[in-house]
Amino acid sequence: MTIDYISSRHGSQGTPAPLGFEDVMLAGLARDGGLYLPSEWPKFSAAEIAAMRGRPYTEVAYRVMRPFVGDAFDEATFRRLIGEAYAVFETPEVAPLRPLGDSGLHLLELFHGPTLAFKDVALQLLGRMMDHTLQAKGQHAVIVGATSGDTGSAAIEAVRDRRTIDIFMLYPHGRVSEVQRRQMTTVLAPNVHNIAVQGTFDDCQDLAKACFNDLAFRDRHALTAVNSINFARIMAQIVYYFWAALKLGAPEKPVAFTVPTGNFGNVYAGYAARQMGLPIHHFVVAANSNDILTRFFESGAMTTAGVVPTLSPSMDIQISSNFERLLFDLFDRNGQALAEAMTSFRATGRLEVGGNALGNVRQTFDAGRLDDAGTVAAIADCRKRFGITLDPHTAVGYAVAQQNRRDQAVPMVVLSTAHPAKFPDAVERATAERPALPPRLADLLERTERVEGTNNDAKALKIMIDERMAAARPPAPSTRNRQ
Ligand SMILES: *Cc1c(COP(=O)(O)O)cnc(C)c1O
Repeated sequence: MTIDYISSRHGSQGTPAPLGFEDVMLAGLARDGGLYLPSEWPKFSAAEIAAMRGRPYTEVAYRVMRPFVGDAFDEATFRRLIGEAYAVFETPEVAPLRPLGDSGLHLLELFHGPTLAFKDVALQLLGRMMDHTLQAKGQHAVIVGATSGDTGSAAIEAVRDRRTIDIFMLYPHGRVSEVQRRQMTTVLAPNVHNIAVQGTFDDCQDLAKACFNDLAFRDRHALTAVNSINFARIMAQIVYYFWAALKLGAPEKPVAFTVPTGNFGNVYAGYAARQMGLPIHHFVVAANSNDILTRFFESGAMTTAGVVPTLSPSMDIQISSNFERLLFDLFDRNGQALAEAMTSFRATGRLEVGGNALGNVRQTFDAGRLDDAGTVAAIADCRKRFGITLDPHTAVGYAVAQQNRRDQAVPMVVLSTAHPAKFPDAVERATAERPALPPRLADLLERTERVEGTNNDAKALKIMIDERMAAARPPAPSTRNRQ
């Protein structure tokens, strides 16, 4: 079965031909402003799921993702890319599942990659897939992205030293943690360009958008996006839902998942796994005080509110960009109706779904929230009860999961999205101890940094990118050995 892809707003601007995987991966966002998704989900029978039990992570990954990539890679190439991506993880398990005593709760540890957050799981593979495709086409691409922390370092780590890709990463000067900043700025590869913007994260996002909206500029550099709207990232995240469920008795036994949520990419990947036939009992969407999604699941209305900074900054979002993919199903896959609703949402800050749709979606999703005081208490509680130190994002999941156990007999997996050492201040507040960075990052605070500054000015940024790219050609020789 070969999957093709449509936009969540398909039909709103004519009916473009469905795309293949390579185009979707390299484009990121659809031209009509929508998000790409498969026109139908590949289905796995109970026998096919059972046959994955006991297999290594890379084998489960290959089987789950194979239908999505179509003929973009031959079998040997795809297996090699998967193998290389997950060989850089600290453990051969890639995503170890750790039971919390006999509570029925389990932590799925997704932070054993190079930058200590779950974003490595998808980006390590995406960087390799993009590089392979660009090399085969003899092309070069430029990634422009904005980050409030974790995405930037994971994307940089995924493409450093690749001759087919340059990456420009914008972050708000003085507003990311020191660990997060250094994980970006100490990567000295010549294709990595860190840019500290005098402004907020929203300013950074607007600057990135301005680059994409300048079509001549966009085409000149073959701009591409690696934020979580890129479907290839969702695809790679589907794998660990299968992986965890298999360990807990799928396909015979159902399992529930709680997901610390920001842009809704991670939990949407779980929803996709369920559409593909994995028996998932229900999901719990766990938010911090920025609870636009929790309010939606309670009321059926999505209404914007200002962002407040919290101890779990990677979940400090105003609008969850990936939520449009779920809305597509709530709008009965009617791209035109969804496009209209999204346009009106932009104008009014409000979007509502009908009672039927809300009832349906609530069969699958519960939602909860936890403020900073609760987060600190949850870190302390897990440490006391189970001897395990959580990062603040996972702590939100841990607490919200316990408030949303529908059935004590169904195991509940909490996605553990970051290593505690990535957020030492919050952890120290809860435990009075500063978590140590793992050995391979132990000297992070002594490493040399390289970063450029810029004002919040799109024109100046585009000139900077033009100049850097003119200077970069012809491409420098591989620099792993030059550093
Ligand atoms: C990005 C991130 C999240 C939020 O994930 P989404 O896919 O945006 O919902 C949660 N926790 C951590 C540590 C993250 O880096």
